[in-house]
Amino acid sequence: MHHEPATHVVGVDLGGTRLRTALADRAGKVIRQNAVPTQAEEGRDAVIARVAGEVRGILGTVAIAGLRTVAVAVPAPVAPVKGIVFHPPNLPGWGEVPLKAILEEELRLPVAVGNDANVAALAEHQFGAGRGHSNLVYVTVSTGIGGGVIEAGRLLLGSHGGAAEIGHMTIDMNGPRCPCGNHGCLEAMASGTSIGREAARRLAAGARSILGASGDAAPAELIAAEAVFRAAESGDALAKDVVEWAAYNLGVGLTNAMHLYDPDVIAVGGGVSNAWDMLYPTIRRAIEERAMPSYAHRIPVVRSQLGDSVGLLGAVALALMETT
Ligand SMILES: [Zn+2]
Repeated sequence: MHHEPATHVVGVDLGGTRLRTALADRAGKVIRQNAVPTQAEEGRDAVIARVAGEVRGILGTVAIAGLRTVAVAVPAPVAPVKGIVFHPPNLPGWGEVPLKAILEEELRLPVAVGNDANVAALAEHQFGAGRGHSNLVYVTVSTGIGGGVIEAGRLLLGSHGGAAEIGHMTIDMNGPRCPCGNHGCLEAMASGTSIGREAARRLAAGARSILGASGDAAPAELIAAEAVFRAAESGDALAKDVVEWAAYNLGVGLTNAMHLYDPDVIAVGGGVSNAWDMLYPTIRRAIEERAMPSYAHRIPVVRSQLGDSVGLLGAVALALMETT
């Protein structure tokens, strides 16, 4: 079958609140991009129609013949190759959705679908901290914790697309409950959500802090990680302890990742990484205390350089990878 030369790809970052779309050239340079509210509450069909509409919109005058691939990053596990999305927690009413097949039918173009944290690792590999390296671990720390692993230049997917769930490695088997149902996962002990919850727990246990009155049984959701970081910055002892607790746990998780994957570099992104300067010394200490000596110093741990575009750039990177 004869193919026109590929000139462009489209990347879509389908988040629970924002739907972002980018048109990129074959070097991965974003030519234009757009963002609209996902309006996830309207349900599956409306959101998928919105994705298709955004792809058509971003194409504008680009000849379809030159567009080779559309790739969509979704906040859920994805079956590799088939592009089936499994129960995105932030997209109500989705269940199990053959997104690749639906969009290919709708757009008449090849569509690739990837997990958002996985494709973020691709972005970091092609455009960020992992450029020029073969092996990379990417960890995103925000309300939850996700990850992606690049091994010999390829995304590690596992047999069912479920590889590199770094957020659900156990850090403390008797630790706090994780949304996944387990106890003491990294996500339950270093995510933004867990930082707020731990601060609330310590307040409820009687610790004093500018974050709230001692003994308040405030629901964890009422304390944002951002507020804990601000309080720590202003010298609040409880907040500093909680930040150190989370950073040390993250360091333990990253040490495990070093031992498992022996990457060239580990990149950390997500909203919590905005507090990098506060977190990094403790992350480093955990690694030095815990990693086997040959690992600790040869694997740099750096902050992601791609900010909140990492998912969108990851979708672009996935589209380019699928474009031969
Ligand atoms: Zn978990």
